[in-house]
Amino acid sequence: MDLLTASGMEAATPPVRRVRVLLPLPLASPYDYRVPDDMELEAGAYVEVPLGPRQVFGVVWAVGGDEAGVAVSRLKPVIRRFDLPPMPEVSRRFVDWVAAYTLSAPGSVLRMAVSVSAALEDPKQLLAYLPSGEPPPPGFKMTDARRRVLALMEEDGPPRTPADLAREAACGIGVIRGLAESGLLTPVALRAQPRPPIPDADRPGPDLSADQAAAAQALRDAVDARAYSATLVDGVTGSGKTEVYFEAIAASLRQGRQALVLLPEIALSSQWLDRFARRFGVRPVEWHSDLAGAHRRAAWRAIANGEAPVVVGARSALFLPYPDLGLIVVDEEHEAAFKQEDGVIYHARDMAVARAFLGGIPVALVSATPSLETLTNAETGRYGRIDLPARHGGASLPDVTLIDLRRPDSRPPARHWLSPILTDAMTETLAAGEQGMLFLNRRGYAPLTLCRGCGFRLQCPNCTAWLVEHRLSRRLQCHHCGYSDRLPDVCPSCEAEHSFVACGPGVERVAEEVAQLFPDARVALMTSDTLVGPHAIQTVIEEVRAHKVDLLIGTQVMAKGHHFPMLTLVGVVDGDLGLGGGDLRAAERTFQMLHQVAGRAGRESRPGRVFLQTHMPEHPVMQALAAHDRDAFLAAEAEQRRAMDLPPYGRLAALIVSGEDERQVDKAARDLARAAPQDDDVLVLGPAPAPLALLRGRHRRRLLLKTARGVAVQPLLHSWLAAVPIPPSVRVQVDVDPYSFM
Ligand code: ADP
Ligand code: ZN
Repeated sequence: MDLLTASGMEAATPPVRRVRVLLPLPLASPYDYRVPDDMELEAGAYVEVPLGPRQVFGVVWAVGGDEAGVAVSRLKPVIRRFDLPPMPEVSRRFVDWVAAYTLSAPGSVLRMAVSVSAALEDPKQLLAYLPSGEPPPPGFKMTDARRRVLALMEEDGPPRTPADLAREAACGIGVIRGLAESGLLTPVALRAQPRPPIPDADRPGPDLSADQAAAAQALRDAVDARAYSATLVDGVTGSGKTEVYFEAIAASLRQGRQALVLLPEIALSSQWLDRFARRFGVRPVEWHSDLAGAHRRAAWRAIANGEAPVVVGARSALFLPYPDLGLIVVDEEHEAAFKQEDGVIYHARDMAVARAFLGGIPVALVSATPSLETLTNAETGRYGRIDLPARHGGASLPDVTLIDLRRPDSRPPARHWLSPILTDAMTETLAAGEQGMLFLNRRGYAPLTLCRGCGFRLQCPNCTAWLVEHRLSRRLQCHHCGYSDRLPDVCPSCEAEHSFVACGPGVERVAEEVAQLFPDARVALMTSDTLVGPHAIQTVIEEVRAHKVDLLIGTQVMAKGHHFPMLTLVGVVDGDLGLGGGDLRAAERTFQMLHQVAGRAGRESRPGRVFLQTHMPEHPVMQALAAHDRDAFLAAEAEQRRAMDLPPYGRLAALIVSGEDERQVDKAARDLARAAPQDDDVLVLGPAPAPLALLRGRHRRRLLLKTARGVAVQPLLHSWLAAVPIPPSVRVQVDVDPYSFM
């Protein structure tokens, strides 16, 4: 073939069309692909593309690729496009924005937006299995795994996908395939999910008080403005904040747009879902990690198709591709649970504000104890502010008594943890036919177990942490990595027999004391160990509400939003827990948590009492709780932070260097320290061993970047990280605006 004909042929074939496709992988940028002739693709289209020997999904990030990049001959074609509306432009900008802010790969953020890739498949085409009821063919070998799958399918009926079956029966996909090939499973096509029901904005809500009505009007106005705004809704627990933001949701529904409510712990919020259903007639679409496979896929598709008018979810719900989001509510905006600490490290409250800004929509930040960050933004006028000062129906705030554990007359007897002042109050409460609650944010029986003979303590082999004794499960556990072991009969150090003693209280030990003191009281223990999954929690909540429980003992799982009309007494076993450790937000967090716990008492007509056991009654946190003077506490806290240029008055970013080889980790950390940015406004601290210097078998070092508020930390971090080669065995995590310093 001569040159002439060759170029003539080229002119006849249509030019190669390129697209840039973002893959859900930690890659620096999107990859170029060729668009097959018979395919139309626009930005945002969900596609399947080849990647080496694999096929992965991706999203078209731009039409037209880098002509100077990969040669046409080496471009791989897009395999297919999924039958879904394209990912909205604002969602794509949000992915890029979050990636840039957190210094993550855009693909890692995309993975949060499309966390169930199976949802991309049209559900009609989804393969699922039912038991066939046929006898096993000759020569069929029954294994444990096969038996588990079959037993699982006998229990309850719905067809399940191979992936769901494998997960539920804890076996490989191959086991499912084998059963299908033996004729024991029948393939069926899963039916398309019904559309989520539409909440009715016009069902009557409660008659709002004047304050509430004004607050609701302000939020409705924000929704109707169809423009970015951020508003703090600040009001004591029980002031009706939820009722008020329901009115904003109603306004968004009337516009036909989607509304998103972020809750810190969705699994704990069936009371919230019930309330929503009472107000709007149906439940909203839920999004959280407890959702099982099929529900998750259905929810994702409903959201992406714009068929979910209201979504309530945990932090990850923020990243879903809403085609027409019109409102975001972040309830309990101060909650640390909004901070994701692994993978892409982000704070969902802050990202929600960014998402609202990018989308030109309002965001409401709701709390009884707003974070200093949000309060500062409200004070400087960046955020609007709505106050709800009074409890609904005039319920009074509970009386808070500080119990000074240093005083002989209020100190608990030896090896006991409840002060006589508190136990007297419990006696009175029970005699009055009311309920009490004891709060201790410490799982297990005792925080520390040591040998009476030699003082030897049992430590986690994978972490810098002591093992915690759990008597109910008769195990020692590491609360960081889940390692567990039985308590040895013989001390590994001095070989004394049965020499281990428990030091200090955990909730299990408090429950033991309560059982001795009040043998007739009906006691419920609420911790993440005793209550596994939302149903278990729900059951206890129902029992407490039905007054089948007299005394409730628990960790923070019971501090959240529950409303128990007969609960009039709250005892905080160790108010000082959480104040140690030197974390910059320790006081603020302790205040928020104890305030929330205290807010459980006396929610209705019966007045509540709170008893707070502490060794430091003079501490500003305790004084603020006793005097109900949040603002004085926050002012003092703000003053301290301002003086030290700490957030929100300065900026922090942390680098966490980790790896299995301690020497390499140390070297990488030192190399980073040597290359640290130098400027008047910038200070780099470290490297220092992280408080959890060993976590899950990885050694960890921390560096902390501290800057003035006006400094953009991302460019600094970028050039810093680019300057230091890091060996593949060492990982450097970037935590912009860190909340955990472990
Ligand atoms: P918050 O979210 O501020 O803690 P809630 O919205 O949960 O407050 O309200 C506390 C309790 O008071 C709830 O049981 C709620 O239904 C009730 N409540 C609040 N406002 C009203 C109102 N205007 N009319 C009737 N009940 C109300
Ligand atoms: Zn551990």
